[in-house]
Amino acid sequence: MRERAIASMVPYFGEMYANPSGSHRFARAARQAIDEARDDVADVLGVAPGSVIFTSCGTEADNTVLAGVSGGAVCSAAEHHAVLHPIEHRGDGVVVGTDAFGRIDLDRLADACADPSVGVVSVMTVNNEVGAISDMAAVAAVVREVAPQAVLHTDAVQAPCWVDVRDIAPLVDAMSFSAHKFGGPKGVGVLTLAPGVAVDPLIVGGGQERERRSGTHNVAGIVGLATALVETDRDRDGELQRIAALRDRLVDALVGSIDGVVETVPRDHKVAGSAHVCISGVENEALLFLLDEADVCASAASACASGAMEPSHVLAAMGVDRELALGALRLTLGHTTTESDVDRAADVVVDAVGRLRRGVS
Ligand code: PLP
Repeated sequence: MRERAIASMVPYFGEMYANPSGSHRFARAARQAIDEARDDVADVLGVAPGSVIFTSCGTEADNTVLAGVSGGAVCSAAEHHAVLHPIEHRGDGVVVGTDAFGRIDLDRLADACADPSVGVVSVMTVNNEVGAISDMAAVAAVVREVAPQAVLHTDAVQAPCWVDVRDIAPLVDAMSFSAHKFGGPKGVGVLTLAPGVAVDPLIVGGGQERERRSGTHNVAGIVGLATALVETDRDRDGELQRIAALRDRLVDALVGSIDGVVETVPRDHKVAGSAHVCISGVENEALLFLLDEADVCASAASACASGAMEPSHVLAAMGVDRELALGALRLTLGHTTTESDVDRAADVVVDAVGRLRRGVS
């Protein structure tokens, strides 16, 4: 977490620990903290304060839109499961294929939107596995022309560190965010809804968030989220250059030292903090084990179902060969990443791949 986000939360566990729905002065102070956080969040996200709904996480924000709009649902095959699973649950969804970079196929999106019963379309701004950036202006142009009745939602959970969301906000009706993706606390997120967009609440009860999301506010979490988001926005331009240079150093080291490394998405089509490669002839389960032993924390985004390793649904949508996809390695960089982290990670990966290929573990 960002240090300032942690510090901003602390009073709300102590002297400011009051329920903002109450009526005494401590409650009013807590409510004011939420109002200020809402103003800050709205400013960074390019929406009106009344459009900001605080949720418990990005998953809840996604689920709220996908469950709360009637009519058919359309999404891309590379979406996070927080979008894919509620669409599967509805049973009326159309999952549209992607191009080789994991971005939704616009012609197939137009075909899916031609059904007049479509009520909601969801296309992620940045892919969480491979880091591909969607062309949201092109997506919005298709949806507005072919399905003007539909609510256009974007899962922008992975966006704030890399993309100025103010450019995305006017294109869509709804956006999802999660604080732990930009140096805030886990367990707090945001859903934005443009004025006039009707979405049934997922959680009903005490009527908080103007009846759109009931439940006692996570005051400390909301304050920490806002602090982290403001700092992320302030630092974005400088961090983009610094982190892209570190990412390039890392990927160049892997490509230069290991045979058969494929960069899944070209660097100019993805966010700076994402280093995603597939290493041929290596099973990522074994690789991740060796990396973990050497204190390099990575992921592969493959799931082990009924004993059989399944490659990621994102790589499958991109058309990546199954064998190669089983060698997927995802290393991500952020505000705390340093040059020595990157150099050490590269050394450890090179060593581990060498050991696996030589059959020494
Ligand atoms: N959407 C994307 C693109 C994500 O990367 C994530 C988190 O990994 C989520 C949704 C879910 O967010 P949360 O972990 O806050 O529920």
